[in-house]
Amino acid sequence: MISGFIHEFAPAKINLSLAVGPLGKDGFHPIDSLVAFADFGDELSFAPARELTLHLSGPFAQHVPSGHDNLVLRAARVLAAKTGKIDTGAEIHLCKNLPVASGMGGGSTDAAATLRGLNRLWDTGLSAAELARIGAELGSDIPACVYGQRLRMCGRGEQIYILDAQPALATVLVNPGISISTAAVFAQFDQMQINPLDSNALCAPAILLAPVIGDVLSALRALPLHQLVQMSGSGATCFASFETETAAKKAAQNLQQAHPKWWVKQVQIGANTAD
Ligand code: ATP
Repeated sequence: MISGFIHEFAPAKINLSLAVGPLGKDGFHPIDSLVAFADFGDELSFAPARELTLHLSGPFAQHVPSGHDNLVLRAARVLAAKTGKIDTGAEIHLCKNLPVASGMGGGSTDAAATLRGLNRLWDTGLSAAELARIGAELGSDIPACVYGQRLRMCGRGEQIYILDAQPALATVLVNPGISISTAAVFAQFDQMQINPLDSNALCAPAILLAPVIGDVLSALRALPLHQLVQMSGSGATCFASFETETAAKKAAQNLQQAHPKWWVKQVQIGANTAD
């Protein structure tokens, strides 16, 4: 655990399904997605300070902006402006464990954890719904990440329906070591006819842009005892759930051995993980 005053876990967001509507007049695609969160993610800490500062560590720290463009600082500034804390700072530490631009909502989950953490540090007393509304101004996945539990998100991500708790799913996450731009995947989506039976409407366009995603999905489908196999968000991270934790562990070991350059992580998804 990184040092600090208040700690927040920022779990990876996994899209169990993702339907995408045609581009609207507002320039957004409406979505309808079942989302669960992993027991693996980034870690943040918040300590009182006069200035707002961000310190990065962790395996993917070098892949995120360290300055004002980081979603952590953007979320902090928006919350400060909304709550009259403009002259109040915080020393924020982010341990970046999640691959960046990988379809697991890394920036969004960090922003959501920042809203939760600073709401506690600054004692601003906002409800989750109020934090989610503020988060929606910064990014479509942020309201879901504020809640950090199994839910359905619709519209531009601002319509959230919390789902009943279910047993956690033993799951293996795999990223082939590439970043993929969400905007590029949506642009490709606009030029394609999507099979309405696809459980993630962004999967076919993502594979066209990064064919290695197809290799990852094939490798996951070849694993014994797999259940659901899917790409998360706009990729490139894919996942497979398994009947047992033992099967997931074995699958992760075999996959990592066969593909040493891929990022492979055995996790549980579906438990309520946010603080
Ligand atoms: P989504 O699933 O919501 O599309 P993603 O997982 O594909 O998100 P992110 O990891 O959130 O993508 O990264 C998207 C962009 O946001 C990157 O270009 C990155 O530089 C920028 N970014 C800013 N702050 C952060 C942060 N704290 N963590 C990750 N990315 C960040």
